[in-house]
Amino acid sequence: MDTTWDCIVVGAGAAGLSAALVLGRARRRTLVVDAGEQSNRHADGIGGLLGNDRRAPIDFYAAGRAELATYPTVELREGDVVGGRRDADGFVLELADGSEEAAQRVLLATGMDYRYPPLEGIEEHWGHSVFHCPFCHGWEHRDRPLAVVDRGRALLLTAWSDDVTLLTDGPADLTSEERERLDEAGVAIDERSIAGLRGPDGTLTAVTFTDGSERPCGGLLVPVTLHQRSPLAAQLGAVFTEPGPLFADALAVDATSATSVPGLFAAGDAAGAMPSVANAVASGNTTAAMVVMSLTTAPRGLDPDATVMDVAVPPIREELGSPSSS
Ligand SMILES: Cc1cc2nc3c(=O)[nH]c(=O)nc-3n(C[C@H](O)[C@H](O)[C@H](O)COP(=O)(O)OP(=O)(O)OC[C@H]3O[C@@H](n4cnc5c(N)ncnc54)[C@H](O)[C@@H]3O)c2cc1C
Repeated sequence: MDTTWDCIVVGAGAAGLSAALVLGRARRRTLVVDAGEQSNRHADGIGGLLGNDRRAPIDFYAAGRAELATYPTVELREGDVVGGRRDADGFVLELADGSEEAAQRVLLATGMDYRYPPLEGIEEHWGHSVFHCPFCHGWEHRDRPLAVVDRGRALLLTAWSDDVTLLTDGPADLTSEERERLDEAGVAIDERSIAGLRGPDGTLTAVTFTDGSERPCGGLLVPVTLHQRSPLAAQLGAVFTEPGPLFADALAVDATSATSVPGLFAAGDAAGAMPSVANAVASGNTTAAMVVMSLTTAPRGLDPDATVMDVAVPPIREELGSPSSS
């Protein structure tokens, strides 16, 4: 029996599970390897995911896994992919237990590491009452006294509460126009230096300041930067995008979700999809379809000198047949 997988999906978050479902339904022999550290696993619920709104992430991932278990072509394995190389037939990935698995295609759905500001006490509140995305968690914190340390999004937060304070963590270099706009929107400005966050069991009750004072607070919006969590893409030689305000190093992909390495695809946060579970599901879905197309139309082996488009996806119109040819 051929021991080469059609595709190995690395990561079983929303993107990886969604991709594996499409691959399994397309009868592609698919191995999913997952280290079980989905970025939102500590959050109370998933906000804004149609059909699963406010569902606990752990339940959502379990449901995805249960759906995959009904497809005999998909195998899900717990573990870490610690290394990989490309060869003429495709890829060989090395797992933490020392085993190796070969595949014609690899789909990276490895997610990103969300880095937040180093505020004392932030870790125990992260994903509960301290959040980076008001669309995900604003509803649960509506009408409370909210604070924000991200000046670019202070006005946005007024969608969820009339009691919003911009914390500048020291004297702010805001222009008079900026101060006026914030004032008009009812956003207070607090220029005290932040000492930390206080509140029991992940429930923020106050922001404390270095002068010993504090401000009651029922929710805090912070900025984050997203960084590759896995070194695998770099090891395989993939190219990354230039650092931006949100993504420090997203994988560069083309319109077919192909990376710069022929046969290597990427989906979800790792590929710079706008970070949300819905977008990760969508990205996994379309990326898997591209992988299936590339598997069914490209020669089995990967020419090491081939360009991305040689082995990725042929023009879709050609594949489906143009209207005039039907
Ligand atoms: C605290 C928090 C709360 C959030 N809340 C919401 C919300 O309410 N609503 C919403 O829509 N979005 C929310 N998001 C954003 C959302 O969670 C992400 O956009 C989405 O989960 C990305 O999915 P993904 O599959 O790309 O990555 P992830 O879900 O991060 O999954 C990646 C998986 O790959 C695995 N992995 C990585 N490297 C390897 C490797 N080398 N070998 C094996 N496995 C590996 C990881 O362990 C992980 O299981 C939140 C994010 C955070 C951080």
